[in-house]
Amino acid sequence: MHAPLRRRLGSAAAAAAAADVTIVGAGIMGLNIAYQLRRRAPDLKVTVLERSKSLGVGSSGYSTGFQRALYAVDETTRLALDGMAAYKDWSTYLRDDAATAQFYETGALWMLGADPAENRAAQARLASFGVDADVLGADELGARFPLLSTEPTPEYDSEGDEVAFGGGELSALYEYGCGHLDPAACLEDLLVACRREGVDVRLGVGATSFVTTPDGSEVTGVALDGGHPTVHTSSVINAAGPWFNKLNATAGVTLSTTAVPIRVQVGHRHVPEEYLSLPFVGDGWGNPDVGGIYFMPRVANKQLLFGSIAPRFEQEEVNPDDYNQSLDPDVRSEFLGEAPLPRARNHRSANPSPAPPPPPVNQTRSTTASPASTRALT
Ligand SMILES: Cc1cc2nc3c(=O)[nH]c(=O)nc-3n(C[C@H](O)[C@H](O)[C@H](O)COP(=O)(O)OP(=O)(O)OC[C@H]3O[C@@H](n4cnc5c(N)ncnc54)[C@H](O)[C@@H]3O)c2cc1C
Repeated sequence: MHAPLRRRLGSAAAAAAAADVTIVGAGIMGLNIAYQLRRRAPDLKVTVLERSKSLGVGSSGYSTGFQRALYAVDETTRLALDGMAAYKDWSTYLRDDAATAQFYETGALWMLGADPAENRAAQARLASFGVDADVLGADELGARFPLLSTEPTPEYDSEGDEVAFGGGELSALYEYGCGHLDPAACLEDLLVACRREGVDVRLGVGATSFVTTPDGSEVTGVALDGGHPTVHTSSVINAAGPWFNKLNATAGVTLSTTAVPIRVQVGHRHVPEEYLSLPFVGDGWGNPDVGGIYFMPRVANKQLLFGSIAPRFEQEEVNPDDYNQSLDPDVRSEFLGEAPLPRARNHRSANPSPAPPPPPVNQTRSTTASPASTRALT
C-alpha cells in the first residue's frame, strides 16, 4: 500500500506542499486515518488540524463507544469486527504498552421485536462471521437476566390507560463478544500514537476554508483561523464530523449523499452494584417509538448509560455550534422515571402520569454527523 499511495500523492504540487495530507478534525476518524497513513507510509507528511484545544469536543468524545457485529449490511459487520479486533488488542494496535483504553466485553441482548425465525436467521448470519449468538424466549431470558422485565414496554393513551399490546411472544438475540471502550481514553491514546509516529497534530488550530485552484477543481491548501498561515497541501481529508458540510461548502463540494448533524440523547446515572453485570441491552420490545432505548453498564464509573433508539429521537437536525445539551424532560421522565432501570422488573406497572420527579442524572449530549448507528439495528 505504501508505494501506490506515495505515487498518487507525489505530484508536482506535492513537492512544494507543507503537508502531503492535511486532515481536518481530531476525532476518532481524523486521528485513526492519520495513524494508519503514517503506519503505511512513514515518509508521508501528515498534519491534523483540531480547532479545539482539547480532544473529544465532537461526537467521539460523547460516544457510547459500543461495538457490536449485529448490523444489517455485511460490509458494516466486517468493518465493525475489524474495529473490535483492534479495540480488543488496543496496545498491539497502537504499538504502545502504556495505552490506557480498555475494551469491556458486555455482550448484547437485542430485544428489537424480531420473531424467533428472524432471530434464528440473524444468529446464522452472525455465525457466518464467526460470532456466537443465542436465541432466547421469555423464560430463558428471565432466568438468565432476572433483573430485566420480559414484558413489552407499555404504551398509554391520552387518558393514561395502558394500550393492549398486539405483538406476539418475546424473542431476543444474545450476541457474544461485543462491548465498549472509553472514548476519551481512546482519543488520548491515539493522539500519543500519532505524535510518536510523526504526525503533526495541531490542537487549537481551526480550518476556516479549503483553498482551491482558480477553477475550483483542486484543493491546494487549508486556510486557518487565529492568524495561522495557510497549510499548503496536496490532499485534504475532511474529518470534521458534524461540521463536515460547512467546510465542504467552502470548496463548493456537494455530495450525492447527505450527512446531517442530528442531536441524540445519552444520559448516565449511578446504579447498585448488581446492575453492573447486565449486558448491553437494545430494547425495542413493544412499540419501539414508545420505548426504544438502549442501556449498558459502565463498570468503571458504576453507572448505567442509556440512550434512545426511538426513531422520534433521531430526527432532530441541529446546528452543531449551538444546540441544547441537556436531556429533554420527556426523555428524563420516560427513561429515568422512578425505577433504577428502564426495564427493571417493578417498572412495568408504573403509570407514567403524572411523571415522578426525575432522579439526579449526569447529562451528556452531542451531535453526530450521521444518523445514529442504532438505526441499523432494525
Ligand atoms: C451520543 C453518541 C453516541 C454514540 N454511540 C456510538 C456507539 O455506541 N458506537 C458507535 O460505533 N458509534 C457511536 N456513535 C457515533 C460515533 O461516535 C461517531 O460516528 C464518531 O465519533 C464520529 O467521529 P468523527 O471523528 O467523524 O467526528 P467527531 O468526533 O465529531 O470529530 C470531529 C472533530 O473535528 C473538529 N472540527 C470541526 N470543524 C473543524 C474545523 N473547521 N477545523 C478544525 N477542526 C474541526 C471538531 O472539533 C471535532 O473534534 C455515537 C455518537 C454520539 C453522538
